[in-house]
Amino acid sequence: MMGSMKISDVADDIERELVPRSQIDETINRVAAQVSKDYAGRDLLLVGVLKGAATTMVHFAEALSINVQMDYMSLSSYGSGTTSSGTVTVRQDLSTDVRGRDVLIVEDIIDSGITLAWLVDELKRRGAASVKVFALLDKPARHKIDIVPTYKGIVIPDEFVVGFGLDYAEKYRNLDSIAVLKPSVYSKETH
Ligand code: 5GP
Repeated sequence: MMGSMKISDVADDIERELVPRSQIDETINRVAAQVSKDYAGRDLLLVGVLKGAATTMVHFAEALSINVQMDYMSLSSYGSGTTSSGTVTVRQDLSTDVRGRDVLIVEDIIDSGITLAWLVDELKRRGAASVKVFALLDKPARHKIDIVPTYKGIVIPDEFVVGFGLDYAEKYRNLDSIAVLKPSVYSKETH
């Protein structure tokens, strides 16, 4: 992977790597193989949740052996900090009518579960025939809502992570693996 941004490129900001790229790739490939089987011969719509899941969405779609459609929705339940505000706002909606469609939501991470629970309900309200979920990362210790992804990714501890699409203040999204930042990065924050 020439030219990608690695932990060593932002070493001053990183406390430790939590999920190596090899584990991310294995997880995405495992789930993609299962989804390709489960939806064989069906018409699947992938819904990626921006911005965090954009990286997972592309790698996941590329690993599928079935022909899918892809759309994106931009949701926000976070302000600029690291805790959920509890209310979900649609910043940018789908351009696809989900009525009668089999939908698979692709999420970067489940924290409180508020965003995902809201989105599952919303897509059902819009008339989707089925709504399933793949979340690359899951922090079960933080769930405020009892939600279990259909396709499980990687369980991580209660820590704020960045990389592989996930940001802190819009940075580190292009880090090629998943890491925990040093506390000093947060204390530089100005309010
Ligand atoms: P939830 O609604 O489950 O509390 O939060 C889901 C969203 O919050 C995720 O899609 C993600 O954008 C953001 N989020 C939750 N935990 C983390 C984390 O550890 N790191 C980053 N960068 N974003 C997170």
